[in-house]
Amino acid sequence: MQNNKIIYSKTQEKRSFLSSLCSCFDCFKKNPQQMNQYHPEIDTPKSSFIGQRKIIVLDLDETLVHSQFEYFDSFDFTINIAVQSQNFKVYVIVRPGVKKFIEQLNHFYDIIFWTASIKEYAMAVIDYIDPDGKAVERLFRDSCTPLKNSFTKDLTKLGRDLKDVIIVDNSVFSFIMNPENGLKINDFFYDKYDKELESILPFLIWISQLSDLRPIQNRYKEFLNRKKLEKKNDEQQIIYGLSKTVSIQRKKINQKSFIKTLTEHIANRGKVGKDDTNESEKETFEIINSY
Ligand SMILES: [Mg+2]
Repeated sequence: MQNNKIIYSKTQEKRSFLSSLCSCFDCFKKNPQQMNQYHPEIDTPKSSFIGQRKIIVLDLDETLVHSQFEYFDSFDFTINIAVQSQNFKVYVIVRPGVKKFIEQLNHFYDIIFWTASIKEYAMAVIDYIDPDGKAVERLFRDSCTPLKNSFTKDLTKLGRDLKDVIIVDNSVFSFIMNPENGLKINDFFYDKYDKELESILPFLIWISQLSDLRPIQNRYKEFLNRKKLEKKNDEQQIIYGLSKTVSIQRKKINQKSFIKTLTEHIANRGKVGKDDTNESEKETFEIINSY
């Protein structure tokens, strides 16, 4: 940890002012020699959370929110933060559906927010999007792994079998160390009509039931194919209407009773608008009744 602190303090000196706040301002260059000093096995802090449920790791910037220093009229809230003794206002817009997304995921996963942004900024963002504190843990830039002049997230630091871990992130680089665990989400910037979270939620719920979530991108393709097939079947049921008719026949047994025969005809009426009705199935039930 001590070594870690030294490395981070050195790299921060090299960063531009903007980049020291949010991961979305990572336009800085690091000193390659400093990066070579990094030792993943002894450096950045690991998760301390121990749980039983599957874990879903959620990125923040361009996944759940977008932030910038310049004013824009569709922002949802602002954050005032002090960096290097100067105060700054950050304008933040929240991706549509975030609160419902978190609420729903909480039924199926232990949620961990993990961002490459600094804690001072990210804490305020998480407080806003998860006011009830449903997430079990918050991880920040100091838990990321410096790699190739950027930051990545080594999921083994969560201390869990990776078959039970999924990360949702707009950057594939974030899960480059565990590519089988990552679901890349489209970038979010300003679109108030964005439906990405609503779109991937059914998949995330479905995959939570599997014994091994990996490889997640393949699972996602499989899920989309299933949905396509279901949609196709639904459309066929609309085009090919099924109709049922029931005919009743009575056969007298004696003075007091008779057999009532119910015959159910299931007719395939073909495409709507056509007259090529064919009787495809028959089911017969006999009931003995009394007069
Ligand atoms: Mg991001």
